[in-house]
Amino acid sequence: MIVTVQKPLNELLDFISPYGKILLAGCDGCTQPPRGLREANTLAQLLELGGKLRDKNFKFKTTTIAKQCDSHLTATMLKPQLEGIDAIMSLACGIGVQEIAQAFPEVPVFPAQNTVFFGAEERDKGAIEERCAGCGNCLLPLTGGICPIARCSKGLTSGACGGSKQGKCELSPEKDCAWVLIYNQLKKQGKLELLKQSRAPRDYQLTGWRVTT
Ligand code: SF4
Ligand code: SF4
Repeated sequence: MIVTVQKPLNELLDFISPYGKILLAGCDGCTQPPRGLREANTLAQLLELGGKLRDKNFKFKTTTIAKQCDSHLTATMLKPQLEGIDAIMSLACGIGVQEIAQAFPEVPVFPAQNTVFFGAEERDKGAIEERCAGCGNCLLPLTGGICPIARCSKGLTSGACGGSKQGKCELSPEKDCAWVLIYNQLKKQGKLELLKQSRAPRDYQLTGWRVTT
């Protein structure tokens, strides 16, 4: 799932302050926590209230789309709703925001969320944790199925930094050290020799992917 965190209300109010009628577009896709119609309606209420405190009377229309990252669906679903709309605020991840911007270049589009990571729901911990950073060169076969890019605070690809204490990360003590997890996993699999390999750091040229569908 793609995990998002709502931007501060004041930042959202700053985005829309030059406009009067705003379409709030939710997304029913993989964004977590959910960002659909119910969340769009709640956000509309909060922004309306925040607007009044700034002597602004925004008008909001709310909608939702099955998945904003489907460019055809987004363009088709939103087009009939744009009559009289000055700006759009998307509750989707950054991908959805960009699809709207591409479909309607004449309408200003704003993100309601900060997109923070690709994660997994850890129900026993009551948390969603980062698992993948979309690096473009998956190392999981070499690291016992544990991602060093997303789960090591320094994104180290060739082993631990040496600062781990009692299995926790030196930078984020609430987190398990990814390289301790990798060591334990490789040990269970009888593959500790993989730790002797030196690997290049993450290659940031491997971004901007396009695959044919
Ligand atoms: S190495 Fe990590 S960040 Fe890269 S693709 Fe694999 S899981 Fe994702
Ligand atoms: S303590 Fe572990 S997780 Fe934290 S930066 Fe060092 S190697 Fe990475």
